[in-house]
Order: sequence, then structure tokens, then C-alpha cells
Amino acid sequence: MKRTTNDRKVIQEVLSKAQQPLTVREIRKSAGQSVHLSTVYRAITEMSSEGSIRRVDFGGRVPRYEVAGEHHHHIVCTTCGDIEDVHTEPRGLEKAALVESKKFKSVHAHSLEFFGVCKKCT
Ligand SMILES: [Zn+2]
Ligand SMILES: [Zn+2]
Repeated sequence: MKRTTNDRKVIQEVLSKAQQPLTVREIRKSAGQSVHLSTVYRAITEMSSEGSIRRVDFGGRVPRYEVAGEHHHHIVCTTCGDIEDVHTEPRGLEKAALVESKKFKSVHAHSLEFFGVCKKCT
């Protein structure tokens, strides 16, 4: 019990210091060898279902995780995989999706990622 709490604290800390969303393997690497990969997987699953961290999927790549803070988006470099947070916000997306939808009565959130080439790769 105590050990689990500590592992979660370590993971939370790793994610809050990270410059970009991390994969489970990257989280484990930063957390140190004392934390087992299976422990990280379990903690990540729990923490994302509780809502303290957020899962980010980049078009079928390995899922990454970040601290669930302010709503934002990411730009991903399609050459090297570098990721940057952006706060640009397309307005009216949910409304437009709902207008088009035949099955849904409400749309309350969106997930949107941008893909491009970073300055290091040009
Ligand atoms: Zn790049
Ligand atoms: Zn948004």
C-alpha cells in the first residue's frame, strides 16, 4: 500500500517535470530501475482512469502520458518524433461535430493533434 503510493508519487513527479508526454518505458527510465515496468503500467492505468494523468495518442504510435492540466494540443514531428505543446484552440469543434452527427445527443470534448516537421529536421 505504502509502496504503491510512493511509486505513484514518483511517476507523477516524472510526468510533471517532463517537457513532453512520455511513454510508459520513458517514465520507467526516469523513475529509476527500482520501479518495475509492470508497476508503472498498473499505476499509469489507475492514474489515467482517476483523471490525474492523461493519455495522448498520436496516430497509432505508442501511447504517451502527461499530467492532466490545462486543455491543450500537441504538434508532433513526423521525422524525429519530437513533441511540443500548443494552446491554439479551434472554436466550435464540438458544436460542428454534433451538427453533423446522427447518433449523438451531446459532444463534450475533443482530442486533436498536429503533425509537422520540427526545425531540427528541416
Ligand atoms: Zn524533428
Ligand atoms: Zn482543444
